[in-house]
Amino acid sequence: SSRIAARVRRIKPSPSTSAADRANELRRQGKSIVNLVVGEPDFDTPAHIRQAATAAMDRGETRYTLMAGTVALRQAIAAKLERENGLTYALNEIIATSGAKSAIYSAFAITLEPGDEVIVPAPYWVSYPDMVLACDGTPVTVACPEENGFKITPEQLAAAITPKTRWLLINSPSNPTGASYTTDEYRALAKVLAKHPQVLVMTDDIYEHIRFDGQITPHFLQAAPELRDRTLAINGVSKTYAMTGWRIGWVAGPRDLVQALDTLLSQSTGNCCSISQAAAAAALNGDQSFVTESVAVYKQRRDATLARINAIPGLSCRVPDGAFYLYINCGGLIGKTTPEGKVLNEDGDVVMYLLESVGVAVVAGTAYGLSPYFRMSIATSIDTLEEGCARIARAVAALR
Ligand code: PLP
Repeated sequence: SSRIAARVRRIKPSPSTSAADRANELRRQGKSIVNLVVGEPDFDTPAHIRQAATAAMDRGETRYTLMAGTVALRQAIAAKLERENGLTYALNEIIATSGAKSAIYSAFAITLEPGDEVIVPAPYWVSYPDMVLACDGTPVTVACPEENGFKITPEQLAAAITPKTRWLLINSPSNPTGASYTTDEYRALAKVLAKHPQVLVMTDDIYEHIRFDGQITPHFLQAAPELRDRTLAINGVSKTYAMTGWRIGWVAGPRDLVQALDTLLSQSTGNCCSISQAAAAAALNGDQSFVTESVAVYKQRRDATLARINAIPGLSCRVPDGAFYLYINCGGLIGKTTPEGKVLNEDGDVVMYLLESVGVAVVAGTAYGLSPYFRMSIATSIDTLEEGCARIARAVAALR
């Protein structure tokens, strides 16, 4: 008998954290490591946002706020949803959370009964299935192969829905593939959902602005406004404004769900950080040039890295529409033998080989639910990326 509850024993620590820990450990041992694991912007939070935090502290905004977040922050979120997404939400339909991560977890916590199913298209962000498990739900992963653009089709959705389905999770652009849904694709999914009123929709919009094709990321609810009453739109400032450490996310959705989130969070975390709320409001209301500038930098890195990876025999990568990762197909390396005589049987072996032989840290596709792939972050300098690609090319060339 363990003193740790089953709901925690069912889950595992984030594989990207484990990979980063392993890379740091090797670095401490003196190995030269190129870390391409990180999933956060390498930029500093813009100065005007940091100044808003300082000003808030100086004004004495260092106390508890309303559970749902300050009026100023929720007004800024409502204005953002209207301006950028064409969606109208009242302040009592919005709740600020300590990051999008806790928003997603809490949304499962307020809705899942034991055994309720959550449809998670794979490849998925590593945390989704474990969050569902931690809330006593059952993740139903649906493999969305590269030929389908790593996206769930209406036929796959229809086949995955059962009477126990509670949620469909949509993440566009996606971590790890960068794939994004079009309005037409959303409409086709919505048509399936129309027949299943028990299914709620969670949209994880955290990468909406990290977009390389010049397109504005359409929102699911713009394509399917009729599903507003069963959709939670989740987002945050982490990726867009290089604010991962500030921990501000939010949920916009129907009143009953937002009220339930308010109740749960009021008895668990309480409100999110008052100072961060002021900074997030400034980020949303202020000058947006950082977003354009940083996305241009990510795009340069994506283009340069993609060309180098696709030039390596045995590796290939589809062009990601957004987010800051490459999800690299390493099927061409499976079955090959390393100079030490070890056969690469799966993507985990490839990742271990890259780390041990040339000191490049990436994350295996098994963590994201679709193999054989590995994820490389491009949220790092172009020099680091070039060094990483050169080392990968060397390691691959040494295979037999
Ligand atoms: N959703 C996805 C798809 C992510 O990749 C991440 C961060 O890695 C998050 C949510 C978490 O965002 P936050 O920092 O707001 O908790």
